[in-house]
This record gives sequence, C-alpha cells and structure tokens, in this order.
Amino acid sequence: MNKLHELDFDNTYSRLPEAFHRRVEPTPLPNPYLVSFNRGLAEELGIDPSAASDQDFTEFFTGNRLLPGSEPISAIYAGHQFGAWVPQLGDGRAILLGEIVSPSGARFDLQLKGAGMTPFSRMGDGRAVLRSTVREYLCGEAMHALGIPTTRALCITGSAAPVYREKVETAAVLTRVAPTHVRFGSFELFASRGQKEEVRILADYVIDGYYPDLSGREDRYIEFLREVIARTAKLLAAWQAVGFSHGVMNTDNMSIVGLTLDYGPFGFLDEFDPSFICNHSDHGGRYAYHQQPNIGLWNLSCFAQSLLSLIDRDAALSALDEYEPVFVGEYFRLMRAKLGLSEQFDEDSELISDLLLQMQQSAADYTVFFRRMCDFNPNPVVQNWEIKGMLVDPSGFDKWAVRYRERLACEPMGDRSARMKAVNPKFILRNHLAQDAIDRAEAGDFSEIDKLLSILQKPFDEHPEHEDYSKPPAIGTPKIVVSCSS
Ligand code: AMP
Ligand code: MG
Repeated sequence: MNKLHELDFDNTYSRLPEAFHRRVEPTPLPNPYLVSFNRGLAEELGIDPSAASDQDFTEFFTGNRLLPGSEPISAIYAGHQFGAWVPQLGDGRAILLGEIVSPSGARFDLQLKGAGMTPFSRMGDGRAVLRSTVREYLCGEAMHALGIPTTRALCITGSAAPVYREKVETAAVLTRVAPTHVRFGSFELFASRGQKEEVRILADYVIDGYYPDLSGREDRYIEFLREVIARTAKLLAAWQAVGFSHGVMNTDNMSIVGLTLDYGPFGFLDEFDPSFICNHSDHGGRYAYHQQPNIGLWNLSCFAQSLLSLIDRDAALSALDEYEPVFVGEYFRLMRAKLGLSEQFDEDSELISDLLLQMQQSAADYTVFFRRMCDFNPNPVVQNWEIKGMLVDPSGFDKWAVRYRERLACEPMGDRSARMKAVNPKFILRNHLAQDAIDRAEAGDFSEIDKLLSILQKPFDEHPEHEDYSKPPAIGTPKIVVSCSS
C-alpha cells in the first residue's frame, strides 16, 4: 500500500490542450480537520489507510498542501440547466488534482470539491458546506453498495471557516473519486462554439480511456454514442427500480460513462409516489421521479447533437431510438428480480405495474414494501398480513397474489426469499437519516456519519441491531426540504 507521497499520478486530462481546462490552486482553509474517511475505498485505490491518521492527510485533501504528482486543474463545460442552454459553466468549486492508477490498474480522478474559487466560479464562492458534503459522501457509498454506477468519495475534511448560504454554515471539502468527471456538457461546450477539432479530441480521449473496445475503429464515434445511450438507459432503469430521484438532471450533471454524478437535492422515495419531486427548487417538476427516464433521453439528444460533426444525423437519430427499448428491458429485468422472477413472461410488466399501482394508492413505503415481499408465502392459506397490511385494499392484493402465485410456479426451484433479499435493500439513505448525521456533525460529533456509512455499505444485510435505520420517517414528522443550495 502506498503512502500519499508515493501515489502513482498519471494526469491524462491535464495533458489535453489548454482549451479543456485551467490550471488552478486550491485555496487553503484554516485549521482543517478530518470529518470522515472511507477506508474501503482507500484500500481499493491502493492508499494505505493508516495515512489518514496523519495531519498531512487532512492538509492534502483540504487543498492546503499539494500531493506530489498532482497537477490541479478545473475543467470547462457547458450545459442545459432545467432545459435552458447555459453557454459556459465549468468546475466552479471542483479542482481535479489528477488521476491515480490503482493496484488493479484502474484509473481514478481525485477531485477536491469545495476547495475554493476557480475561473469558472461565476457568482459562487468555490466552497461546499459540511451538510452537502455529508449527503454526497453517504449517497455515493450507498449507491455503490446498491450496485448502481456512481462517483464515490475518499473523505470529507472540514474547517470552522464560515460559508454563507440561507444561513451561516461551515466549510468542508469532499474528495470525489470517479473513473472520469467528463460530462455531456463537456461536449456541448465545444460543439456550441463550432470547435470541431476539440469535439474530436475529447471524443477520442473518452473512447481511448473509457471505451477501449472502440478505440481506433472507423465507426467509433457512432458506436460511442450508442454505448453512452445504453449505459445511461441502464443507469436510469437502476434509479427507477431502487426509487432514487437525482433532483438536478442537467446535462452538465450527466456522466459520459453512465455514473450517477453530482449529488445535490437528491432523494430516495419513502412512500411510493411517482410524481415525487425531491428538489424544493424544481417548481415545475421537470425532474420528478417519473420524469427521469424521459429526461435521460432528452439529455442524450443534446449529447448526440454535440457529436454531429463526427457522425451522421440519421445514424444519431436511430441510436437515440435504442434508448427506450434498453431502458424498458433493463427496468423490467430489475423489477422482475425484485419479485423473485428470473424467467421472462409477456404478462410480467402488467403484474409489476398492478402492484405498483396498489402501492401508490396506499402510499406504501417503497423500500419496506419490497423488502417484505421477500417473505411472501405462496401457500394460499397464508394471509401475508405483513405485506397486505401496508395496503388500503388488502383484498386487491389477494387477487393480485393469485396471479403472482401462478407466476412463481413457473420459476425454477431455489431460495426465492434469499435471492430477493439480495436485490431488495433493507437500508437506503433516507433524508431523515442523512439529516440526523448532519445535525450531529454540525455540533461536532462525526460518529453518526461513520455509523450510517457502515450500514449503507451493506444495504441488503439484516443488521438486526439497527432496525430503526430501515424505517420510514415517523408519521407526522415534517418533510425535510432539500434545495439546490449546497
Ligand atoms: P450543480 O447544479 O451543483 O452541479 O452546479 C452547477 C454549476 O454551478 C457548476 O458549474 C458548479 O461548479 C457551479 N457551482 C455550484 N456551487 C458553486 C459554488 N459555491 N461556487 C462556485 N461555483 C459553484
Ligand atoms: Mg454539477
């Protein structure tokens, strides 16, 4: 395992031409302290976890000192925000230290989020608050453990330095880790300016680094588009199946490798409400839970447009036509698995939709309901009250269960309950859990972050000692309002 000063940096993005980024220096924060450290990720990256106990570690990942081999830059990009074109954005508060190569040979960006102003900060202060970094840190880990592609984070550091949002908060820096942070908006920027050569350079950079099977092929650009479309469709299917709402699906927050990127006012569903809007600032519900798959396609069409100097228009349009079948196929595959169904039958989609409708009419907790379904007893004399007690019309469930029993009879033998528990999480990052960890962290106690992290890293396990963490918010507790302010 490497100590920090021995990290193997290979900064391919900073070697791209100047048009792609600006050199920057992180702005130090006074008296930084370590808030939380992700030991498991450190090990995957080949970083000796014992390094985290040195003050050097905290200084490096606050941006107060520079890691040897790093070449800090901020990337330029543009994007469609809530449907409106913004000609230039960029890392306004994120600084890419560089890329390190892990012991398994995989390449990872190390990025400091909240490390001070950059040439792209616009009206912002370049900072992040403790509250938002805790949410991003926990959710990245939760999604990763749920098997959903995502950025992750190595650590959070904090400082008493004040940061002004709706109220005065304190500063924090998140060390974000991802194979790459290139976004749809990175391509849109150059395409919108007619910089065809930069579009080509960026496309080849992403293909060579992250779609190596396509590297050097004559048809690589259209195949690249098709791959991005497929990955995005599968990502959206995974979000829908687990009940995750991103909140700000702007094209600058869409990863070119199909990761969940930029956690802001995200939310997991508590009760099943397809029109759930997690972002308080999203008045029109553009990014409501049930809109997400459509928005995924809308964003992809912006991305496809940015490649038109490299690909044929009709080919791009037919590639976009592949989005829906990939999404639908993957979504129903995941939903069938949630019900313990491995075979594929035509009537499955109706069976699934009918159950979701009952859950919606009953405002049943999405995660708890599916977890209870894992213990469904197909014996017709068994009442399954644990499940149907969550529904307003238990007899409706009985009728549905007749069809479900018949369907289960077509499945191969095996431990259905165990298979279902491996895909229906018991623990998700509910807003009230995140908020509790944040409230305590703001009062100087970081232990709840680590405790929650350890539960969310094994979301399918029972953790009988942590039953409370699996429960929806208590009835009558006011809803937590989450806005873009971070
Ligand atoms: P987001 O919607 O959080 O992904 O942010 C959209 C854009 O605003 C990105 O270009 C960010 O870098 C920038 N931004 C957000 N917050 C800040 C901040 N506090 N200071 C500077 N730039 C920011
Ligand atoms: Mg963003």
